Amino acid sequence: MRLALVFPPSMPPTSPPCGIAYLKAFIPCKAFDVNLTYHDTAVHMVQKGDLCVEATIGKDVLEPENLREAVDFLKGPIYDPEEYNTSMTIFFSYFTEISNYVRRECMKYGEGSPRDDVLDIMDRVISPVKRYHPDAVGFSQMVLDQREFILGLAQNLKLEGIPLLLGGASLSYNPEAYLSVVSGLDLSDIFDAVFYGEGELPLKAYAEGEPFEKISYLVYRRETIIKNRETGIDDLDELPPPDFSDFPLKDYYASEIILPLLTSRGCYWRRCTFCRHHTSYYRYRTRSCEKVLSDLRELQKKYEASYFLFADEMVHPQRFDELSRLIIEEGLNVRFYAEVKPTRDFNRNLLKGMYQSGARALLWGVESGTQRILDLMDKGTKVGDIEQVLKDSHEAGIWNMIFMIERFPTQTKKEVEEDFAFLRRNEPYLSTVTGSSFKLEVGSRLYESPEQFGIKKVEEPSYVFSPVCEYLNPLFTDQEADFLSKRYSTEFIVLSKVSWYFARMRDHMLLMADHLSENPLERRAP
Ligand code: SF4
Repeated sequence: MRLALVFPPSMPPTSPPCGIAYLKAFIPCKAFDVNLTYHDTAVHMVQKGDLCVEATIGKDVLEPENLREAVDFLKGPIYDPEEYNTSMTIFFSYFTEISNYVRRECMKYGEGSPRDDVLDIMDRVISPVKRYHPDAVGFSQMVLDQREFILGLAQNLKLEGIPLLLGGASLSYNPEAYLSVVSGLDLSDIFDAVFYGEGELPLKAYAEGEPFEKISYLVYRRETIIKNRETGIDDLDELPPPDFSDFPLKDYYASEIILPLLTSRGCYWRRCTFCRHHTSYYRYRTRSCEKVLSDLRELQKKYEASYFLFADEMVHPQRFDELSRLIIEEGLNVRFYAEVKPTRDFNRNLLKGMYQSGARALLWGVESGTQRILDLMDKGTKVGDIEQVLKDSHEAGIWNMIFMIERFPTQTKKEVEEDFAFLRRNEPYLSTVTGSSFKLEVGSRLYESPEQFGIKKVEEPSYVFSPVCEYLNPLFTDQEADFLSKRYSTEFIVLSKVSWYFARMRDHMLLMADHLSENPLERRAP
C-alpha cells in the first residue's frame, strides 16, 4: 500500500514533526510536512496578492514585503534580539490573520465552499501529496487547532476518492466525534477511520490489510461507531529512531537543523490534578539511555544535526543523570532542551552535568508560587526547592523557561499576589515566563471530583472535540479574570529576557541560548 502521512498546519515551522517521523521509521510510507509547505506558500501568496489577508501592528498596516523580510530573517541566524523580536511580531501578526482566515473558510465546507484563495492555498499545499498517488492518506492532528485545516485538506483529497485516516495526540479525547455528524457534516463520509492512540502497531496493521475489527486503537463506523481496545509497544527499545528523510531539513524557519526525539512516552508522574496526559498514552515507558545515545549519534551523523528537542511529556531527573554521563563519555557534541518538573533531584551537580552534555534550555512546569496551590495540584514540588533549582540551573548556564497556571481553583487574590512576588524574587534566574489560565478538562482528577477543589457547577464541554469544560469560579468575576489575565501576560513579557516569543517558538530559544553560552556549537554554513 502506498501510504502518505501528512502533518497539517498551523504549527511553528521551526523543526520537522515528531509523530509521523516515528511512524515512517516503523511503516513503509511517505511523510509530508504540509505545515511547512503552508507557511512558505502563504508567504508567497501574500506577496503576490493572491491571499486576501491584511495584517497590522497597532494602527500600522503591514506590507507583504515586511513578511518576506521577517521570514528571511527567521530562516537565518536569529541572534540579533531586536531584529528577532521585530520579525516575530510581523510573522505572528500575519500568520494569526492568515490562519484565522483559512480556518474560518475551511469550516464553510458544511454549508458550501470556502473562498477561492483558500481553495487555492489548500490545493497548492496538498498537491505534493496527490502527486505521490497514495492509496490512503493519514492526517496527524497533534493539537486541536489543526482540525479545520485537516478538514479543508481532506475535502480536497476526497475529490480524488482517496481513503482518509485521522490520528494524533489530540484524538485521545472523544475520538468517536471525528466520525459523527457535526454542524451538518457527516465526518464519516470524509474519514474512513480514526486512530486515537500510539500509531505504530495499528497503522501497520491497517497498511497490511488487517480487518478493522482486529486493529487496536481504532474507531470506525459500521451500523454504529465502534471503538476498539487499546494496546501499545511495551519495550520502546524495539523501536527504530525517527526517520526524517522525507523532510526538507534545511528549509525550516531556523538557521540550524533541530530534530525532535522521544526518550520516553507518557509521564512518570501522572498525578497532577489538572492534567489528562495519562489518557493520551498507552502507559509510561522509557527507552534505555544507551538507545537514546545511539539515536543521537545516528541522527547527528545521518542529518548533520546537533540540536535536539526531547519531546517527552516530562523527562525524569535520574534519566538525565544517566544520559548526561553517557553523552559526556561518548564525547558527543550536541545541544538539547526538554520539559522537566522542578524537584530537588535537579541538584547543582546534575544541572552542571546536563549543561556539560549539551542542555542549554529547560522548560519547567512551575505552575504556581504558592505551596497550598502546588499541593492541591499534587505537583509533588516545593516552592523552596523550585527556587533553588531555578537558581542552580541558571548558574549552570541553562536558560529557564517557566510555565504558570493562572486562577487555579480556590486560588485567592492574596495567592495571586504571591505568584507575582515569586516571579519577581526569581527574576534573575528566568529567561522566559509564560502560562495560561486554568482549564478544567474531562479526564483530569479535578474533573472527577470538582467539589474537592471548591467547584460547584461544571458544564460538559460545548465543543465535541475539546475536553475543556465551563465551570463557575466564585472567587473572580469575569471582569476581574480578564484584568488578571492581562496582568499576568504583561508580567510574563516584562520578565522574559531576550524574547517572550521563545514561548511560541521554543526551538529558537535553544539556538539563542547556545549562541550566547560559553561554548556555542559551530554554526551551519549558510
Ligand atoms: S502536568 Fe506534567 S508532570 Fe503533571 S502529570 Fe501532566 S505531564 Fe505529568
